[in-house]
Amino acid sequence: MDLRRVVLIHPGREGRIFGKAPSPSYTLMRLASLVPDEIEVEIWEENLGPLDARIRNELGPTDLVGITSKTLAIESAEKFARLAHEAGVKVVAVGGAHATLMPEDVARWADVVFTGEAYFTWPQLIQDFMNDTVKPLYNDTEWADLAGVARLTDRVLKMVDENRHYWTPLLEVTRGCPRNCSFCTAIRVSGQKMRFRPVEEIVEEIERRKIDRFFLTDDNFGLAFRLDPAYIEKLFLALAKLPLRGWTTQAEMMVAEYPDLLDLARKAHLDKFFIGFESVNPNNRRELGGKSKGLTEQYRRAIKRVHEHGIGVVGLFVYGFDEDTPATMWETWEFARSAGLDSMSQTILTPYPGTPFRAQLIRENRLIPNTPWRLYDTAHITYYPKQMSVEEFSREYDKICKTVYHPVRIAQRGLRSLARVSKYSVSMIPRKTFSSFSTDFGYRKTFEWRYVT
Ligand code: SF4
Repeated sequence: MDLRRVVLIHPGREGRIFGKAPSPSYTLMRLASLVPDEIEVEIWEENLGPLDARIRNELGPTDLVGITSKTLAIESAEKFARLAHEAGVKVVAVGGAHATLMPEDVARWADVVFTGEAYFTWPQLIQDFMNDTVKPLYNDTEWADLAGVARLTDRVLKMVDENRHYWTPLLEVTRGCPRNCSFCTAIRVSGQKMRFRPVEEIVEEIERRKIDRFFLTDDNFGLAFRLDPAYIEKLFLALAKLPLRGWTTQAEMMVAEYPDLLDLARKAHLDKFFIGFESVNPNNRRELGGKSKGLTEQYRRAIKRVHEHGIGVVGLFVYGFDEDTPATMWETWEFARSAGLDSMSQTILTPYPGTPFRAQLIRENRLIPNTPWRLYDTAHITYYPKQMSVEEFSREYDKICKTVYHPVRIAQRGLRSLARVSKYSVSMIPRKTFSSFSTDFGYRKTFEWRYVT
């Protein structure tokens, strides 16, 4: 079959914020980079503008369409697939977390389902399209060695123009996490062996992309402090030489046990760790995969140590474990305030496909029937909690989010973060102002989705 063009679609719901979209799809940038030079490739990003009319009017039978989607966007992906078929497209391939975790759900309406990372199977589909031998399932069972995998091409960087169109570029350093939290999808998609990209490739990519701020896509970058401290030291020494404004990453609190690496991290322009404390309720520790035990004095010490090295801490908390009551939420807020967290993510436990937590709820008949996937956004309740009613949980969650994300409190936390930065260098303040407020602002926007859907 003739292949005129590959069109990769990224569904998004946030849209533009002050003219820019939040982040480009790093996955699609890498898959687009695997398309051979002689084939035209485009990435269509819904956050940059509506796509329905474009799909109807611009696509045709010789276009190969690929869509990547998380669970919460899968209904948009299904709509895009339907519109593409109506426009005459013969092959719509769908991958991403939801397709990997629940391929049978996607197979109902996609021509091709991708499971796994797709670095090996995506080039195969392009060949198969041209040979007319497309299969319904491409199952990538290998965890790719990250060295040299899907290097971003200059063609794709020029097309995406991320500094112009997006607020926060994404970057990958490690992938995978050996922990085993019962609610986590990341390890089911990226595996439990932590893989590392060569430092030289990371530096080359940052320089070629001309990015000076980024968020790491890593599942649990902080655990690499323990697994391979020599690698982290090498990475930080290399990043310290780059003219970066700052970067952020997910971590766990054991990073606080490595003062030398924390010193290097600040010199490497790290702004903040997003630390998954998950819960202040020690009765939940069974579900937290060994990394957090609900022991707030430990959390407090870790936050203090990280702060002492001039690095901010965003606390990530999840509500709705079986031992949680409405009081747990207010205890969490009290802890966050007294521990001086720079920002705080509060999400509702969500039974994503493929997780032991979902399997447990199915066994116990506790999923709320007919909940659309778009409500699997960690801001909606999708199951029956154990110690509170859905209404009670929802009401208290609204109250606590309105309290934590009140503009005055956001301003207070942002100013406190800036004050800490200024202890190291007043000249850094202009560079750090955006990051001191943007995280809380993002969480406030996420919370507002509760009222949109
Ligand atoms: S530590 Fe984070 S990435 Fe690792 S299993 Fe737990 S939730 Fe997932």
